[in-house]
Amino acid sequence: MKRIAVLTSGGDAPGMNAAVRAVVRKAIYHGLEVYGVYQGYSGLINGNIKKLDLGSVGDIIHRGGTILHSARCLEFKTEEGQLKGIEQLKKHGIEGLVVIGGDGSYQGAVKLTEKGFPCIGLPGTIDNDIPGTDYTIGFDTALNTVVRAIDQIRDTATSHDRTFIIEVMGRHAGDIALWAGVAGGAETVLIPEKTDSLEDVWNRLQNGVQRGKKHSIIVLAEGVGKADDLARDLKEKFGLETRVSVLGHIQRGGSPTGFDRVLASRFGAKAVELLLEGKGGRCVGIVNGELVDHDIIEILKEKSEPTMDLYTLSKQLSI
Ligand code: ADP
Repeated sequence: MKRIAVLTSGGDAPGMNAAVRAVVRKAIYHGLEVYGVYQGYSGLINGNIKKLDLGSVGDIIHRGGTILHSARCLEFKTEEGQLKGIEQLKKHGIEGLVVIGGDGSYQGAVKLTEKGFPCIGLPGTIDNDIPGTDYTIGFDTALNTVVRAIDQIRDTATSHDRTFIIEVMGRHAGDIALWAGVAGGAETVLIPEKTDSLEDVWNRLQNGVQRGKKHSIIVLAEGVGKADDLARDLKEKFGLETRVSVLGHIQRGGSPTGFDRVLASRFGAKAVELLLEGKGGRCVGIVNGELVDHDIIEILKEKSEPTMDLYTLSKQLSI
């Protein structure tokens, strides 16, 4: 293998730049040429591909987002789109591709692999919902962003004796809500993997009131429902006034934490090592502190599970 490429796809995540940098520098270190594919699979189809050198990835390790840009590309879900992508890669003499993204992006890498083009998937998403890894690139940064927000909201919740509902990202995965809820000392954490009734929420709040608590924080993953709807239901059913804060896209941005930078650097380097060993169709992860790689087709049959002992702990610590 002489020439490889790297792309970022799907939802951006802080630390993707650190991963791109690691792929480029590690590859050049081993004498490979590296190309950047801009705008994800859309850029792949359109041939938005440029050579990267050591300097191309200078001064980006601390930056959120992705210098390669990202995109959602429906055309790549078609066989025609995938063949166009492979044609572009071949035209540039590229023999291996590193795809940094979430499970949708992994599906794209699977399609290329099935068509005989070696791809390595790196888990990049704030949601921490990729099977085969304990952590994804961007999760730690998003977690810390949410924890900071909870801390700040707590100040005003305490001053005004209020109950706040904080809606965080996580359509299918509750990790951000769960980890941030535990780290931020939330009274109630609502995640898509578990069902809590309105009565459960109310009872938990009442337990706090009975021991003299005047403020509360509810962390709600967006996959459970909208914070405004929960606020309305609590008001209609129990007469409880709450305040709502929807954190939104601030969770996606920002300078990656040290943890995410190191994780992304290790993942990026591992991807290059796998390609150098002639391996394609793999994805990289970290399990119990060790770097691992899995068959990307097999891993997508599995489901990433949230840390359920943390869910139990969040209930035990917020009585
Ligand atoms: P994420 O990677 O963050 O999960 P998406 O689900 O939007 O984000 O996927 C990113 C891109 O990956 C899509 O826009 C599409 O180009 C590609 N992709 C997703 N699913 C498939 C699929 N089944 N086959 C081929 N490409 C796919």
